[in-house]
Amino acid sequence: MSDIEEHRKKIEEITLEMIKLLKTRTDIAKQIGDAKANLGMTVTDEEREDALRKQVTKLCKEIDLDQSTALKFLNFLFNESVKVQSDNKQTHLSVFLKAKALEEEGKKIIHLEVGEPDFKPPEEVKTALAEIYDKGYGKYGSPKGITELRNALAARENQEYAKVSEENIMICPGARFGVYLAITTLLNPGDEIIVIEPAWPAYKDCALNAGVKVRTIKTTLETEWEPSVEQINNAINENTKMIVINYPNNPTGQWGNQLVDRIINAAKKHDLYVLSDEIYLEYDRREERGALFARWWDVQYEKTIITKSFSKSHAMTGYRIGYVIAEPSIIEKMSKLQALSLTNVSEPIQYVALQALEADVSGNTEIINSRLEALIKIAKDIGLEFIEPEGAMYLFAKTKYKDFDATKFSEKLLEHGVAIAPGEGFGDYKEFFRITAIDETKLKEGMTILDSVLKESYE
Ligand code: PMP
Repeated sequence: MSDIEEHRKKIEEITLEMIKLLKTRTDIAKQIGDAKANLGMTVTDEEREDALRKQVTKLCKEIDLDQSTALKFLNFLFNESVKVQSDNKQTHLSVFLKAKALEEEGKKIIHLEVGEPDFKPPEEVKTALAEIYDKGYGKYGSPKGITELRNALAARENQEYAKVSEENIMICPGARFGVYLAITTLLNPGDEIIVIEPAWPAYKDCALNAGVKVRTIKTTLETEWEPSVEQINNAINENTKMIVINYPNNPTGQWGNQLVDRIINAAKKHDLYVLSDEIYLEYDRREERGALFARWWDVQYEKTIITKSFSKSHAMTGYRIGYVIAEPSIIEKMSKLQALSLTNVSEPIQYVALQALEADVSGNTEIINSRLEALIKIAKDIGLEFIEPEGAMYLFAKTKYKDFDATKFSEKLLEHGVAIAPGEGFGDYKEFFRITAIDETKLKEGMTILDSVLKESYE
């Protein structure tokens, strides 16, 4: 046998051996997963992961192996464990689907779980829908979006906050797809992303889907949902490539006032992307309204990606239209995957969005704010514990009862016709739940039922 043939044989044997070891590792991970589920523990234990990461780093030095490759491989293994251990955690979506099924059986449900404005899109949308056919919108187009809409959005951003041009804007079918594109195209398997929890679940799920390791920073009610500088610094290592922020935040409604500068500093220092999900920017309850966007762009941090949407600002959730703001080179990368997967965003809907920009939607902000006021008052009256939301459309609360399990409570409450979002969908927050600020009459009805089920169950 020639030398090369001999080496190839050896490589094959080693590879097959590695696959067998992977099988053994996965089986054990599954057993650990079952045990954790029985004990009510969360899937990821970052302390244990860190300890193993340190051992791997040490070993790399001893055997002279490239550390960065080894750590990427380790992240792949961590993600495989997370996948096999992923439990049936209840999210706002799973509760929503159960509630829908009950409605189909004829039950009346008050939806306090979904993050969807219950008012109509502006009249301009209706007019635009009627015009689409005659105007001839309905062709293939640029994956970045129609120029008129990109220009209009750039002009709008410039008016209020920033200096951007059409080149900085890409239209996408909802902010969710923007988040997916950013994570999938800018990061590689084995890279790490930082998510500050509680958080909208899609950041983590997109990362897992792309083989990217998620590092969570857990914040608490006691620290007003803000991480410390130390927490941020501890979460960053040589594989960290992106940090996600979402202010006003879903689910806590916080603006992260102190945080923005800390994060941008850390991101600059470590050359990280900042993915800023600003979908709730228009829902602002603070005295002095301002924008996150301005702060980002003022500092000219070129690795910022902002996702925005018509879903909340214009109550156009089902139209599926949003956009991304970033440097042209980033837009270029993201638009390639958009072209591959979608060709382009529906042209008729882009036209509708363009017309929707003509509408004055400040009334929506007022509606959401007055509902939030009402929700805060009721929640205080019934003794829930929370930090008052400064924006968005939710309240994230716990009760005064010890050992309160929000997942079990949400199941029980659903039997009484009220749907809420259990906290475990947003991270390690089993004792919390999220309530959406909906129409006041229904909100009051729902909260009265919530209060009585709570007392009946725990007093
Ligand atoms: N980001 C956050 C924080 C959200 O809550 C949502 C929707 N609930 C989205 C993004 C997605 O919005 P879109 O409808 O534009 O995809």
